[in-house]
Amino acid sequence: MRLKKLELSGFKSFARKTALEFPSAVTAVVGPNGSGKSNIAESLRWALGEQSMKSLRGKRGEDLIFNGTPSVSRAGRASVSLCLDNGGKKLPIAYDEVVITRTISRDGESEYLINDSTVRLKDVTELLGNVGLGVSSHHIISQGEADRFLSASPKERKAMIEEALGLKIYQAKKEDAEKRLAKTGENINQVNSIRAEAQRQLKFLKKQVERAEEAVLLKEELKKLYAEYFKNEDAYLAAETEKIKIKKREITEKLSRFDSVNAPEAESDEAAALKKETDRLEREVADMEKITAELGAKRNLLERELGKLEGIIEYKEKENVGHNAGKKIVVSGEEILPVLERIAGEAKAAAMAADMVLAKKYLLNIVDITGNFIGKISKIKTGGGGNEVELASLKNKKTELALAVNEIAEAEKNSVAESSKKREEIKSLRNRLAETERLLLQSRAEARELKFALAQLDSEGEKIRLRRDESGREKQEAAAITGNDFADIVYDGLNTSGWNYEKREAALRQIERLKIKLEDYGVGAGEIIKEYEEARRRDEEYEKNLSDLAEAAKSLERLMEELDKKISSDFENGLKKINTEFNNFFLSIFGGGKAGLELVRKEIRGKNSLEDEDEENEAAEYEMEAGIEISVNHPKKRISSLEMLSGGERSLVAISLLFALSQVNPPPFLVLDETDAALDESNSRKYADMLKKLGEKTQLIVITHNRETMRQADILYGVTMGADGVSRLLSVKFDDAKEYSEA
Ligand code: ATP
Repeated sequence: MRLKKLELSGFKSFARKTALEFPSAVTAVVGPNGSGKSNIAESLRWALGEQSMKSLRGKRGEDLIFNGTPSVSRAGRASVSLCLDNGGKKLPIAYDEVVITRTISRDGESEYLINDSTVRLKDVTELLGNVGLGVSSHHIISQGEADRFLSASPKERKAMIEEALGLKIYQAKKEDAEKRLAKTGENINQVNSIRAEAQRQLKFLKKQVERAEEAVLLKEELKKLYAEYFKNEDAYLAAETEKIKIKKREITEKLSRFDSVNAPEAESDEAAALKKETDRLEREVADMEKITAELGAKRNLLERELGKLEGIIEYKEKENVGHNAGKKIVVSGEEILPVLERIAGEAKAAAMAADMVLAKKYLLNIVDITGNFIGKISKIKTGGGGNEVELASLKNKKTELALAVNEIAEAEKNSVAESSKKREEIKSLRNRLAETERLLLQSRAEARELKFALAQLDSEGEKIRLRRDESGREKQEAAAITGNDFADIVYDGLNTSGWNYEKREAALRQIERLKIKLEDYGVGAGEIIKEYEEARRRDEEYEKNLSDLAEAAKSLERLMEELDKKISSDFENGLKKINTEFNNFFLSIFGGGKAGLELVRKEIRGKNSLEDEDEENEAAEYEMEAGIEISVNHPKKRISSLEMLSGGERSLVAISLLFALSQVNPPPFLVLDETDAALDESNSRKYADMLKKLGEKTQLIVITHNRETMRQADILYGVTMGADGVSRLLSVKFDDAKEYSEA
């Protein structure tokens, strides 16, 4: 790896674009004081990423930009590009040439480019770290900086050696690993605390899930209860419906039979007919009783007549025994025939009469006719015929009267018998009527009862219908709670034995209890389980994160361990090599003696203790600090410390050390800005020899006023500054350089 070219534009005194090429091993930059030589070294330092303005001899970024002179106006921006030969691909980048550019504008905006692509400072640092080029590295030794190693503290020296040995990159890696480990630790703590919180939630959700699972069991139980309930209820309702249907059919049938055969109206008609007949018979009986009474009266009358007549006859007979004994009464046929014909006519009418009442009437007529005739004969007997005729007439009359009395008595007897018969009939009719009316009442009562029963059955049917509606609503509710529509309920036919009010109420109470319990369980199990699963998945993720982080922490620790080992072993080996080279350079410069570096550890007060430096701190903390001590044994003098060396000697020791460092881990190029300033002629020659030796291993850019040094250069750049305050560059080839240096 070699520095091929450096281009400056607007950087400090290089107002114009200026390019320096480095084709050979040693390049010298020469020129008068203040012409701008050191600006070249600084431009390299800056382009490689230097951040310290102090080491660039400025205060602000703006100080790096050409500030203008009375004759040349100031530049707006500064830019430095360095081109590295990457043929050997030491830089892990696919290009053969790598151009690193850094620019800054007056507004302070800075930019880095690698092969014209904008990059970050970190990218530049990391890229250059691969070849040991970096900020504040030992490859650019500014004016007066050669002594830096000697004047540094042991700890700083150690750091410088580590840097020179290229261990910085491992240290950076270690620091990075440390940072990452710390970050990982933070992440572990963070994840742990998040997880702890999440686990609390998970625990809570787990309980919820357990509850939800309980709820699922409860729901199952409720489903069973509902199923049993609906099975019984459906069976009961179906059975009741059937029962009601059957009963209704029976009653309707009874009612219809009742209407057609024994209709209450029919019964009522019969009763009316019976009543009418009874009335008629009662009327007849009344008539007959009247006739009987009349007959009785007549009979009494006739009997009284008969009595009277018998008295008269008795008297007449007594009389006739004297005067009229044997007197006959003669009645002609003309007189008796019409009477007999009338009697025969009436008797015939009586015989033909439709009923007894009429017959009696005719019979009474006969009684009148005979009475009249008897009277007439009696008149004949008393008047003209003498006592005999009269007695005979009286006797006839008496016979007739007795006959009439008998007939009337007979008629009366018949009339009484007839009346009594009719009364019997009336009695029977009344009984029938009473029976009919009883039956009628009974039928009506029965019909009323049947109708009432029918109405009751209708009301029962309505109750069943309402209960079925209720059962339907219950099913809907049950479906909503349990997710089962209970459509597959199979009830055991119409077997409802045992399903009664108490059992139904008990079942409903049990269902209600479970429903209330379930309500207590709140949101659906599905949601909780989903939430729980989500939380569990997150917890697993946290667990995996933690295990990944722990694994990452372990591998970082391993890496740090490995880096520690590498750093310490590389340091140890490097230190040995440096010591050998240091001693060699020392020997060749001082012609004898001994020089070396030694790794020492000393106890120092810990950081915390240092803060209390002014105070007396008995319990101050101490820690071990590693550092590098330099030991020098001058061949001719007794030197116990570096301070005892002359300025030149000190400078030579510093240069020996610098060169030794560069020998062990040669940087791609080494810039030495007037490192030889303090050397006398003889030492300058020795320095020049050392340069030559070093030039074999690393590219050298030396800024010098020293002729011996110039002589080692293959190319010389002369820097001048005119009256305009702008640095200019002149290049002088090897031969010319030699001539120049001779001159
Ligand atoms: P010496 O041999 O004495 O060490 P040198 O050649 O190394 O000198 P430098 O230190 O490189 O000189 O240059 C310093 C010069 O650069 C000074 O003249 C200074 O005025 C000039 N300079 C520094 N910064 C700027 C700037 N921002 N603008 C213009 N000129 C600047």
